[in-house]
Amino acid sequence: MSDLAERLKSGERRALAKAITLVESTRVDHREQADALLTELMPGTGGALRLGISGVPGVGKSTFIEAFGLLLLERGHRVAVLAVDPSSSLSGGAILGDKTRMEKLSMDPRAFIRPSPSSGTLGGVAEKTREALLLCEAAGFDIVIVETVGVGQSETAVAGMTDLYLLLQLPNAGDDLQAIKKGVMELADLIVINKADIDPAAAMRAQAQITSALRLLGSGRMAEHASALQRVLQVSALKADGIASLWDAICAQRDARRASGAWDAKRREQSLAWMWERIQAGLRHAFTHQPGMAARLEATTAEVREGRTPASTAARQLLAAFRESA
Ligand code: GDP
Repeated sequence: MSDLAERLKSGERRALAKAITLVESTRVDHREQADALLTELMPGTGGALRLGISGVPGVGKSTFIEAFGLLLLERGHRVAVLAVDPSSSLSGGAILGDKTRMEKLSMDPRAFIRPSPSSGTLGGVAEKTREALLLCEAAGFDIVIVETVGVGQSETAVAGMTDLYLLLQLPNAGDDLQAIKKGVMELADLIVINKADIDPAAAMRAQAQITSALRLLGSGRMAEHASALQRVLQVSALKADGIASLWDAICAQRDARRASGAWDAKRREQSLAWMWERIQAGLRHAFTHQPGMAARLEATTAEVREGRTPASTAARQLLAAFRESA
């Protein structure tokens, strides 16, 4: 195990890939090894800028990450890209993680790209991605990008594990309204309108619309560190236009938050939230797998469903039974 840790710490990409496979495994002995490895590597983690990126399929995420990643390499960074794609368990990874994506970036030894774990619930996938993120940091990647599709709750999961969260948008108003409705815009530290090359006038309009929408949404947590105007940018991922300015905007928000203490506070909150999420998942697992609980749960579920027992009473009784049998 320590040999793997040493190789990983020296930045060997094969060791990193192997370590991620270990944390993704569901085997009990692998889980124990993964916990030991993570604990050993923990002192070397935390040093990266963690960036979340999401957007609907086709908005240009992989084109953008390729252009952005290449710029970061040019500037002397090492870049890891992880995907959170809960749909991959259903679709076999159709949306993210395709090998042909980010071709140049994936061939560069200073970059590391890892598709989403191919099975599991959103919670499970998110947990493994968080651990993979720590492993990337221990391997010396100073920028870790966590990518997800904008089709559901995965944005919240990604925003919850990153320092800054970027939402990619198409230059048309319909999508903007969707994002406002879903509350995704409030989650986003930066909103990036991609494909500005196709119709510059539409991109300008979208930028103005989204900026005023953000102003209306008001003084969220983000607004303390950047004005609405500073939070909406336009780029062309295909032509690599506007990417350097976007990087400047990211650095400006990072520096403002570091100076105010918000950066570290968010990291601490995220760690504790993660711990509690895992405790809850563990308790739920213990609860449903406790000998005798399955039958009780089934009987009580029927009682609640048929309206014979109030839900709160049922919960109290089940918890009491669980405590007694534990
Ligand atoms: P993803 O599904 O979000 O990863 O989107 P892709 O990166 O695969 O891009 C979808 C399509 O949009 C591809 O055909 C890209 O070449 C194209 N595309 C991406 N960014 C731009 C851009 O800035 N301008 C133009 N014109 N096309 C783009």
